[in-house]
Amino acid sequence: MVERYLWLGRRPLHLRLRFLQGESTGSYVTRLAARNLRPVEQVLASVGVGPMPVEPQYTEMYASRYARERLADLSGCSVAELSLRLVSLRDEFLMPDGSADDWEWPWDARAGFIVQACSLCAASRGTRCPAWLILPDPWHVCLRHGRWTDNSRSLQCPYIDLRDHPGVVRAQQRLNRVRKRLGYVAARWVEADALSVLTCVRYLENPSRAGEREWAVLAARVGEQRARPVAQFGMLARLAWDMAWLEERRRAGRLSAADSRAWLQRVGRQRGFAFRDPLTHWISGHRPVRHARQASDSGAEGPGETEVAGQEAAPLASLQDLTCLPWVRMPNEMDRLFL
Ligand SMILES: [Zn+2]
Repeated sequence: MVERYLWLGRRPLHLRLRFLQGESTGSYVTRLAARNLRPVEQVLASVGVGPMPVEPQYTEMYASRYARERLADLSGCSVAELSLRLVSLRDEFLMPDGSADDWEWPWDARAGFIVQACSLCAASRGTRCPAWLILPDPWHVCLRHGRWTDNSRSLQCPYIDLRDHPGVVRAQQRLNRVRKRLGYVAARWVEADALSVLTCVRYLENPSRAGEREWAVLAARVGEQRARPVAQFGMLARLAWDMAWLEERRRAGRLSAADSRAWLQRVGRQRGFAFRDPLTHWISGHRPVRHARQASDSGAEGPGETEVAGQEAAPLASLQDLTCLPWVRMPNEMDRLFL
């Protein structure tokens, strides 16, 4: 370490790079090299020692503490800012101290999904080549440009135009409102539970259940795996909205058992009979409480209490990881589809 420190310069690269929200470290390093007209290998060689780089659409790059410092120097920003902007450089994802290499590109990202960035957002940050995000969900909705991108890594059809799917835009707006009302962490829990309920009722098995011809057209164009989460996004948001109503009152200590029963009746009627059983199961883990701390004393397990205890959801925890319900499967399990 000391030797490398001595012979490596610590100057920033000539041209800086603007950060993209949620970008993966591999994508950032690749873009930084391209912006300075240098091969990635060469930029990495000035960060330390390690294996050959991998194209950023395939996996994430992880770094040692030393390499993170050096990358911050090259980028012309502080380690704190770099770790804030590039989630995979946060302490919890650093390579263990004493590793022989300073970076690695494992077979797959350790947490999160590699999703293509909206190219118009990337262009507005000065990037013309494809950029890649590392996100807790295998999809990303850009409301600004009306584009859905996912972890398919397809360069032929990099995004789905949401002008053809206005329901998806409304669904994302609805999810954003849930996040505003409940706070990000609690909203993620509710989304996770909603997805689990959809899995239980096998809603995710059958996109035609979303009802419309547009999904068949989309599936024919991009394949069923990519179309499925788009098709089911509306129901995911509606159900999360319903569940947030109950969860918000429960957390505020304003929920009675009668409210829960009335809610179950109403939502069961609106969403379908099949939803009643999993939602009853969900309610049993989210019982009315006077205030959240009592719930943990009385043994009622629920994600809300964990948050009250001061913990935060891991930044790249997937909906599968977050749900307190037993039914888990992502709607498009297709990481590494193109390898
Ligand atoms: Zn965009």
